[in-house]
Order: sequence, then structure tokens, then C-alpha cells
Amino acid sequence: MGFTIDCLGASREVGRSAFLVKTDKKIMLDYGIKIFDPTGKPKFPLEHTKPDMVVISHAHLDHSGCVPSLYRNMKVRWHAPPPTKDICEVLWKDSMKIMGDGLPYRRSHFNKALKYWTPMQYNKPIKTGNTRVELYDAGHICGAAMIDLRYKGKRLLYSGDFKGEETFMHKGARPVEDADVLVMETTYALKDHPPRKETETKLMQEIYETIDNGGNALLPSFALGRTQELIALIRSYDPEIPVFVDGMGRELTRIYLKHPKYIKDPKAFRKAVRSVNIVESIADKKRASNTPCAIIAGAGMMNGGTILNYLFHANSQSKVIFTGYCIEGTNGWLLQNKGYIMQDDQELHVDLPVEYLDLSAHAGRKDIMKFIETANPEKIVLVHGDQPKKFAEELKEEGYDAVAPLPGERIETG
Ligand SMILES: [Zn+2]
Ligand SMILES: [Zn+2]
Repeated sequence: MGFTIDCLGASREVGRSAFLVKTDKKIMLDYGIKIFDPTGKPKFPLEHTKPDMVVISHAHLDHSGCVPSLYRNMKVRWHAPPPTKDICEVLWKDSMKIMGDGLPYRRSHFNKALKYWTPMQYNKPIKTGNTRVELYDAGHICGAAMIDLRYKGKRLLYSGDFKGEETFMHKGARPVEDADVLVMETTYALKDHPPRKETETKLMQEIYETIDNGGNALLPSFALGRTQELIALIRSYDPEIPVFVDGMGRELTRIYLKHPKYIKDPKAFRKAVRSVNIVESIADKKRASNTPCAIIAGAGMMNGGTILNYLFHANSQSKVIFTGYCIEGTNGWLLQNKGYIMQDDQELHVDLPVEYLDLSAHAGRKDIMKFIETANPEKIVLVHGDQPKKFAEELKEEGYDAVAPLPGERIETG
């Protein structure tokens, strides 16, 4: 008897990750939202029966953003490491502020969700019925986990979002041996990241050059994960250049510091955070704009956020450096491809040099292949990617049983 997997989202798409896995229990793995959809409307997981338990791999909204909506009509415990709960609280609150009625939950469901959280640690398995659940460090963001389910001698590993390569904040996920079923993210399955050290050196060169010219090196950054990685990265190369951090990244950085067990070198990170300027006031913002410096601020794709204020105030010696992926149609994508951003329905041309450096927190192709080879699974379910079908074909040629399910598809494993 194997597993039944209902794919409720993140199937041939990135966003609204949600997989209901049936053993003797019904276990929901992730319950996310898709914020950017070509339809212009957010998307939520498909209809499903009531789970007995929910496990959340990490706090990014595409994995956690719909959890409060479960509490409209059910009582179910959701499990995740402590940083995930703390970060979810901040991100869900922010979603309510930004999306309001566009969300499938209200304040009361949010409050209830926080009450129904149960802490789980890495490498400390728990049991529900005859199913064993264990989490491993996924190396992606603070508290991110891969989820291991074991039932009747069979093992299912859900990768969540993971990174095998070491970064400044995380040691990197370790490949898992002998999984029978591997549910795998494929964000970068068809692409390898450039060598990380080279990218880091290039980033520092760009920052130095901009500062030497008297400009702002503007680093549009996701508040969660990227902001902290950039603080640690810049400080490990240079303890002195002026760095300003603004936006929600400030609050999330404080949460990172609250959970030292979940970061690689908490001592170095604490020191790095102390040595950067955390923007707290209008005067600080002005000081940042008037200082040749690096500015780390959200939003990562420049769709809103304080980074836009810095962009409007930047002098002509400044430069915009993206270190994360921008979805087509977002300001970040427009700026990189068309040289303008949209502001109040107007095209606003930006006359600054724009650079993209890949410092992704996702596994590249090499990492993904290594995971597959080590797990050597009977079945591979490819999710969380734009072209999982192409990758499935490739894996089939190598002799694997790989599928790229559509939303709503049910997979039965042997
Ligand atoms: Zn993620
Ligand atoms: Zn994700």
C-alpha cells in the first residue's frame, strides 16, 4: 500500500503549493497562495477533503499563504518549525493589509490559525496514526524544511523549496537516500546557476564601483531570505562599506536573530546586522539616499515597497542590481527588459544601469539531479516549476518513472 497524492496547486506552475497525501491519515503538505497569476487574480489551492494534519515546509506565501483560510470551517493542527510560525504571522498580516478582501480569510481566521500551530523541529520525527513525519533542513530560508513521510515501509520525500549548495545563511540541504516517492520542486530544473563565488565577487565589484562613483547601489530584495543573505554576504566581504536596510526585511531579520539554531553562523550574522544601518525614520531614508552606499529594500520584484522611493531619489551615478528572479510583467522584469516601470498606470523610464546577478535560494539543475540520484526513487512527482513536463521527459529517458501532474490530478503510488 503506497501513497495517494492529490495535487491541489504548484502543478505545472509556481505558486499555491498544496498536496494532500493519504496514508492511514490525510496529511496536507503546504497550503500556499499564488499571488502573481496571468489572470491578474490570486489563485488558491483546489477544493479538498478535510486533512487530519497540515505540515508547512516554509513561510514563503506560495507555501503558507492560505493556511488561515483552513480555519473558516475546520479545526486542524498545522506543524512547522518555530521560525516559520513567527515569519508567517508577519507575512499573513502584511497580506491582509495589501490584499484585504482579495484573500479567502479574515482577521478571525488568522487569529485562529496562530492558535492551531504545533512546533516541530528538524530531525525529530512525530507520529500520526501509523504515519511517521520528519523534517530536514532544506537550506532555503530560515526554518525551511523538507518533509519525510513513512508509512508501511514506504517513504515519501517532499522537497519543498530547497538548496543543496551552502550559502552565507544556511548549510545546504543534504540529499536523502532511498526514498520511494520524491515530490520535487523544479524551479531551476532546466538551468544551472553560475558559480556562486564568482557571482558574489561580481556583486561586490558592482557595489564598490557604484559607491566610488558617488551613487546608491540599489538592491531590490525579498524581505524574507534575500535581505538576510545580502547583509551576511556584503559584511563577509567588507566590514565597513555603508549598507542601509529598509522595509519588512528589518522585522524579518529580527526574527532570524530570535532563532539562531536555524541559521549557519548566528554570531557572524548578529555582528553583521549590528554593523548595517537599519532605516527607522524619514531622516534615515534621506541619509541613505544622500550617502554613496548599498541599499537593501523590498520589494524584490519592485512591485511596490520602499525600494521605489530610493529609485526615485537616486542620483545618476546609481545602479539597480537584482539578485533574484522577477516574474514577467512585474516592475523588476519591465525594468530589466524594457527600461521602465509602471507607476500609477504610467510608464516611468529609468535612466540607470540595471544588472541581474543570480543568487538564487533554489537548487539548480546539478543539485536537483544529485538529489534524484541519491534518493533513487520508484516515482518522481515534479512540481513547483514552469516546465516540469519537459524535465519529466528527460528523466524518463534516463529510466525514471517521472510525472508532471496537472492541477487536480491524483497520483497513486505502488
Ligand atoms: Zn520558498
Ligand atoms: Zn516556493
